[in-house]
Amino acid sequence: MIYNFDLDYVVDTIKKNCARTVGLQFPDGFKRKAIEISREIESRTDSRVIISANSCFGACDIDTRLLESVDLLFHFGHAEIPNIRVKNVIFIEVESDIDLLPVLKKAVKVVSGSTGLISTVQFVHKLYDVQQYLGEHDIHSTVSSGDTRIAYPGLVLGCNFSAVPDCDEYLYIGTGNFHALGVSLVTRKTVWIADPLINEIRRPDADKVLRQRCAAIERSLDAQSVGIIVSTKIGQCRRDLAYDLRYMAEEHDLDAHILMMDMITPETLLPYDLDVYVNTACPRIAIDDAALFPAPMLTPVEFEIVIGERRWEDLVFDEIL
Ligand code: SF4
Repeated sequence: MIYNFDLDYVVDTIKKNCARTVGLQFPDGFKRKAIEISREIESRTDSRVIISANSCFGACDIDTRLLESVDLLFHFGHAEIPNIRVKNVIFIEVESDIDLLPVLKKAVKVVSGSTGLISTVQFVHKLYDVQQYLGEHDIHSTVSSGDTRIAYPGLVLGCNFSAVPDCDEYLYIGTGNFHALGVSLVTRKTVWIADPLINEIRRPDADKVLRQRCAAIERSLDAQSVGIIVSTKIGQCRRDLAYDLRYMAEEHDLDAHILMMDMITPETLLPYDLDVYVNTACPRIAIDDAALFPAPMLTPVEFEIVIGERRWEDLVFDEIL
């Protein structure tokens, strides 16, 4: 087994709480396990299970509608965001027990200098072991705590890099490029991805993303109308920021509108036909899916540059704190 869904704990918790109805929520990568886990829970308890088939992009994305219909909601695959506690929601982090040694043997051949260690919740519990291994190879590394949005030292979210220490370079333990790319954009330093699933060391391409962001800002300079997007997702909703941006836009004679929505997709924006969109929800939507949208999709910081409220050299990555 690579991932631990902690079903004994889930079953015990259901029994202890005498829960009759239970909700299950999984990120896309784990959704294929939902039916099997639902069957097991129903066979081992007296509860009935409802599976959330909605999006589940992060711990920020709790299915609050489903929560209204169940006694307990188990949210798999993410660590709780400490400053967003919701009653009757239980996070099952789904740690990986994959052996890191093969990929660490490759990592010690590329990392040098002082190294910041970072990861996602699937591997973050192994960072101190990684630190020890690097130390045995004369590599000094650091694991740091984050702010109140971050549950564990060394944990990074795609929207929060407060646990990234000030180091010469970084070693990210995990799969995919999503989080490492964010660290690279925030720090502008070398980030190595040690991917234990495919036993590979690689680097994210931050320069390409930076070029795309500059192009999006330039394409927005003549905009007359703007849609400021606010998410209804509990951990992505920055309503006050959206109101401030609208006020700022109007001060610069732009026709500004606030659009509130759950899923931010190219299709949901098509009817509005505005010149530019500013995304106050998950910052990664403007970064990772930008090319899909019908008009430039900016982060709030980028929009401030467009309207002249911020200098180009003060462009920083948008984070939710
Ligand atoms: S806001 Fe985006 S990056 Fe942050 S936790 Fe949610 S899905 Fe992940």
